[in-house]
Amino acid sequence: MMASAPLVRAFDTVVLDAGHGDFDRGAAIGYVYEKHLALDTARRVQQLLEKAGLKVVMTRSRDVFVPLPGRASAGNRHGNAIFVSIHYNYSRGGSGAGAESYYYHSKGYALAAYIQAYLVQRTGMSNRGVKHASFHVIRETTRNPAVLIECGFVSNSTERARMMTGDFRNRIAEGIAQGIVSYKKSN
Ligand SMILES: [Zn+2]
Repeated sequence: MMASAPLVRAFDTVVLDAGHGDFDRGAAIGYVYEKHLALDTARRVQQLLEKAGLKVVMTRSRDVFVPLPGRASAGNRHGNAIFVSIHYNYSRGGSGAGAESYYYHSKGYALAAYIQAYLVQRTGMSNRGVKHASFHVIRETTRNPAVLIECGFVSNSTERARMMTGDFRNRIAEGIAQGIVSYKKSN
């Protein structure tokens, strides 16, 4: 859904948080690690947003470990900002499929709804919806709207095969970037 967006806040900076890093591989099947997928996707989103005239701050731009409080600090450091954490999902047994977006504080809801709608539209992934959950980085980012995006399941062989291609990660990045730009325009 596109949300009636009662509280879309003006912003000029996007803090992009690529999940995991270094020894924290995140979801992993064989040599496919969430930490690599998340960083590659975040870099693609960064390029698209900069082209659209937004400032981008990356919580990591290399394969390094950043503790969760450091990520949330980056989310709180800038005024007029939004915080978007990028992850890939995992389910036991491998049957989980699709994309989902999380918020914690209510001011993150509209941003999550915009990104979710465009991500699903651009990729054709099944829509698992906008959900509320107490993940550290979106709970502790209190100053700005904060969301966490799960861009499909590493544990699902069909989705894993797609996400291993740059073309599909580009679609994911385009969906996230379009969601952010549309959210900004709705302000
Ligand atoms: Zn993750």
